[in-house]
Amino acid sequence: MNSKNAYLQLSKTTRKRLKTLLGERFLEAPEDLKAYAFDASGHEFLPSAVALPQTAAEVQKIVLLAREEPFPIIPRGAGTSTTAAPLAVKGGLVLSMCRMDRILEINPQDLVAVVEPGVFTGKLKKEVAKQGLFYPPDPASYPFSTIGGNVATGAGGPKGLKYGVTKDYVLGLEVVLPSGDKVFLGTRTAKGVVGYDLVHLFVGSEGTLGIITKIVLKLLPLPPAQAVVVAGFTKLEEAVTAFGQVLQSGVLPSTAELMDEITLEATKKLRPSSLIPDNIKALILFELDGTPTALKEEVFLLHKALKKAPLYQEAWTETDQEALWEIRRSISPALKALGPKKMADDIVVPRSRLVEFVHFVKALQTTNNLLIACFGHLGDGNLHVNILFDPQKEPLEKVKGVREKLLQKVLALSGTISGEHGIGLAKRAYLPWEIPPKVCQIMYQLKQVFDPQNIMNPHKVL
Ligand SMILES: Cc1cc2nc3c(=O)[nH]c(=O)nc-3n(C[C@H](O)[C@H](O)[C@H](O)COP(=O)(O)OP(=O)(O)OC[C@H]3O[C@@H](n4cnc5c(N)ncnc54)[C@H](O)[C@@H]3O)c2cc1C
Repeated sequence: MNSKNAYLQLSKTTRKRLKTLLGERFLEAPEDLKAYAFDASGHEFLPSAVALPQTAAEVQKIVLLAREEPFPIIPRGAGTSTTAAPLAVKGGLVLSMCRMDRILEINPQDLVAVVEPGVFTGKLKKEVAKQGLFYPPDPASYPFSTIGGNVATGAGGPKGLKYGVTKDYVLGLEVVLPSGDKVFLGTRTAKGVVGYDLVHLFVGSEGTLGIITKIVLKLLPLPPAQAVVVAGFTKLEEAVTAFGQVLQSGVLPSTAELMDEITLEATKKLRPSSLIPDNIKALILFELDGTPTALKEEVFLLHKALKKAPLYQEAWTETDQEALWEIRRSISPALKALGPKKMADDIVVPRSRLVEFVHFVKALQTTNNLLIACFGHLGDGNLHVNILFDPQKEPLEKVKGVREKLLQKVLALSGTISGEHGIGLAKRAYLPWEIPPKVCQIMYQLKQVFDPQNIMNPHKVL
């Protein structure tokens, strides 16, 4: 590969061979490349070219070309990454998997689905639901992110509390390795422990080890009924304590989404609502599911556990449930209105340390005169922490300094710096803060085993 910092252009011969292989599915016009230069991170890097393969065989041929020249391959799903993971930092070929978007099999007896990576997760959820089946992982981006992207980032979502996250549903993977070989890892059975677990090495590997071309997913029966409950509290500590009481009551909600005071104020500004009175400074949105009889019993127990909550509301119809979910879904646009820029993290701390963490955040906010919103998956201790700022008024270095203090605190509380969005480019500098040198070394060695030429998504993760 050419020198470390140079922007890479594909050779004329390679471009010609890619054009012959893919025809109109090989893009090199500047206006086409521009569309693949972004994700949701705010970074921008123009790729040298874009390929849109339709089969694993085409992916293999592209990888063999990449080995020969060599040039980097940057796999891409829907480009919703918040960490610049699917961007071509110093050029290279973006491999968009969006044309490999077939649901190959939904098998109610085996409770598996076999899909290509470019299927939108929302589409898969809908299709399996038609057969009375359930694919639980639900990153907020599920309507517009791909299952391949979800697997490659190890995406999570609100339902993680009861049902787990993407990694808990991946049984098997077909992968094109940087050698050009196509291999199948794992099983299509519910269990399997033969050999090392390479499937879960690929889950969350962010396109740095190979290209996922087929995925076998575990499914569950679709719960027939669900209820949504909103509980409001005058203090964040009360919300966290109440959640502990819910768990002690024996109820495991599928979702427990927390919103802090800043988040609530922002959502109220965006859509004035009489639902949340001014004395409410923290809110939890619960979702529960199951058979109608079991659900009634669970909501009864939940209500009992939340008896001290000054705000309590149940929703049993789809319309009422949507109205409550709308509060949670409006967070992103609502926060945007508070600060033109945000520096966002998706940290996790043990639930027992959440209150200490949020107090730390609030103290940082006061000392630095910044707005810092906290919301997210209370059940998993996984909070989205957004520092909202105006770059005209706040120097970037100051905001970065505050963020780093936040991350250090997370680690001091035995937490992790990313629960679901991954490392990509944006958090690469912080990986060694969490991962000890010896373990980093093992990770480098693994990368070397799979990808000795470093052609797969360079500049990411490690
Ligand atoms: C509004 C919004 C809400 C979000 N909410 C959540 C959330 O709740 N939970 C969460 O976890 N994330 C969330 N995200 C982040 C993002 O949606 C996820 O990381 C998602 O899994 C990325 O999927 P994608 O298809 O967009 O992949 P991309 O962003 O295109 O790619 C992500 C990574 O996967 C790799 N990749 C993609 N396809 C393949 C493949 N076939 N083989 C190998 N590598 C591949 C890429 O190289 C890259 O490293 C959110 C993003 C937005 C914009």
